[in-house]
Amino acid sequence: MEDYQLLIDLHKNANRQGPGGDAETEMALDLSMVDRSAPLKIADIGCGTGASTLLLAQLLNAQITAVDFLKEFLEVLESKAENMGLSEKIATLSCSMDNLPFGDEEFDILWSEGAIYNIGFERGVKDWKRYLKMGGLLVVSEITWITRSRPSELQKYWDNEYPEIDMASSKISLLEKNGYSPIGYFILPEDCWLANYYQPMQNSFKDFLYRNGNSEEAQAIVEAQNKEIELYEKYKSYYSYGVYVARKL
Ligand code: SAM
Repeated sequence: MEDYQLLIDLHKNANRQGPGGDAETEMALDLSMVDRSAPLKIADIGCGTGASTLLLAQLLNAQITAVDFLKEFLEVLESKAENMGLSEKIATLSCSMDNLPFGDEEFDILWSEGAIYNIGFERGVKDWKRYLKMGGLLVVSEITWITRSRPSELQKYWDNEYPEIDMASSKISLLEKNGYSPIGYFILPEDCWLANYYQPMQNSFKDFLYRNGNSEEAQAIVEAQNKEIELYEKYKSYYSYGVYVARKL
C-alpha cells in the first residue's frame, strides 16, 4: 500500500498518468465517427485524474462513468469536473477493471487510455465486450511495436514489463478474433510521451522527493521512471502506444 501512496503522490497532480494528448483523444473520436449530439453512455476505464473523461464530456452529449481503482485520482477528477461545470455528465466509480459491476450491453462506448495493460489487452477486450451494446465502440490504447524487429535490450525490457506488447497487426487480429470489427488505428506521436507525460513528471521529481523525505522508496520510484524515460528516448522509433477503435459485432 505504501507503494500506491507514493505513486498517487507522484501522479495525482499531473494532467495525465500515461502517454496521451487531447488532440489524440479527439482523433480517436473522429475515427469512431460517432454523432456528437446523440445521447451516449460511456465508461472510461482506468481514467486516472480524467484527462480523457473531461474532454469527452466537453465534446459529447454523454453520460460518462469514470472508473479507476484509486479513489485519490477520482477525487481530483471530481473537483476538476466541478470547476469545469461538467459534474452532471460524469459519475466516478472506484472499482477494479477486472470486476466491473456493469450490466450486459449497458454502454455505447468503452474508452480506455493507457490502462488495459493492467489486466492484459486480450483479457480486457474479451471480458469488457459484454458491457457494450451491439454496434457499440471500443476505443483503447495499448503499447505497440512499431517495427518488425528491435534491439535485444529493448525486447528484454518489455518482455519483462509487459510480455503482451506486440505489433498492431496482432492487436487488430485479436480484436477480430474476439468479435470486433476494427475501424482504425494510429500511433501516439512523441509529444504525447515527452511533452504531455515524461517532462512534467521529471519536473515534479524534486518536490516529490522532498515531500517524501527523500526516502529510499521514493528514490527507487524516481530511478525506475528515469530508466523508463531513458529507454523511451533511446528507442522511441521502435514502440509507442497504438490507439485502436473497433465496433462490437
Ligand atoms: N487513462 C489515464 C490517462 O491516460 O491519463 C490513466 C492512465 S494510467 C497509465 C493507468 C490507470 O489505470 C491509473 O489511473 C491506475 O490507477 C488505473 N488502474 C491500474 N490498475 C487498475 C485496475 N485493476 N482497475 C482499475 N484501474 C486501474
